[in-house]
Amino acid sequence: MTRVGLRVDVDTLRGTRLGVPALLDVFSQHGIRASFFFSVGPDNMGRHIWRLLNPKFLFKMLRTRAASLYGWDVLLKGTAWPGPLIGKRCAHILREADHAGHEIGLHAWDHHLWQARVERMHGDRIACEIKKGFDTIAEILGKPPGAAAAPAWMTTGEALAAMERFSFDYLSDCRGHSIFQPRIEGKTRNIPQIPTTLPTYDEVVGTETKFENYNSFLLQKIRPNQLNVLTIHAEVEGVFCKDMFSKFLQAAAQKHLSFCPLQQLLQGEDALPVHTIYKQRFSGRAGWVSYQSVQPHSETQHG
Ligand SMILES: [Zn+2]
Repeated sequence: MTRVGLRVDVDTLRGTRLGVPALLDVFSQHGIRASFFFSVGPDNMGRHIWRLLNPKFLFKMLRTRAASLYGWDVLLKGTAWPGPLIGKRCAHILREADHAGHEIGLHAWDHHLWQARVERMHGDRIACEIKKGFDTIAEILGKPPGAAAAPAWMTTGEALAAMERFSFDYLSDCRGHSIFQPRIEGKTRNIPQIPTTLPTYDEVVGTETKFENYNSFLLQKIRPNQLNVLTIHAEVEGVFCKDMFSKFLQAAAQKHLSFCPLQQLLQGEDALPVHTIYKQRFSGRAGWVSYQSVQPHSETQHG
């Protein structure tokens, strides 16, 4: 039996309203528990429309049909008026996910702001953003979120330091291959990282694989005896690719794969290796992404 950590990122109001209830249904049919990382502040994802000015991003939009993935309402939201507060409108959906036994974590207060500005934000500003999201989830569920996952796999030294002001058991901020203690900008940080190991739909469909081959492409990438963490998006697998995702879960069950919340992967892991987190651009995404170094950090190395 190979375990796969299943992480659901929820970026928008539409994803929370439509995608999350659909995924809760699918998960209950398959007897699966997962980790949901919610964005609970203003839905300003429409500001991404400015990225249309970036030809590379326009190309990505056309390739992945982002307008049909997210809906034009999402693309326009936040461009001319302040985005609606997702947590306030969808508190019952967060509670429903919690009651169904899923792990609830924090994705963002303002997903768009994080993506656009985190690189230039100082620790106090970042801590303020996290606190708004942390407090909103704590208020909705009557308990604080035990984990957080940075939007778009973008983290910095200032962000990891800010995270330590909160009671997170682990963070899932980067792409990588094993659970580790992060070292960033020359400092080793306290909170363990559980990286995403598998690609996401929008990164590979249209380039590395076709829509109709995506499920088998993904199944091939899941390996026994190593860390497997899959990130799906409520907006994608919960709405646009709902049927395909349901078939993926059926095929996975036939291959004896079992899905679990990320928290379960942490159990029994005590002395973690230290790995560096570095930034890298990659073709499937706009901007940079945080990565776990392949080799562990050794004290004899400098820097
Ligand atoms: Zn996200």
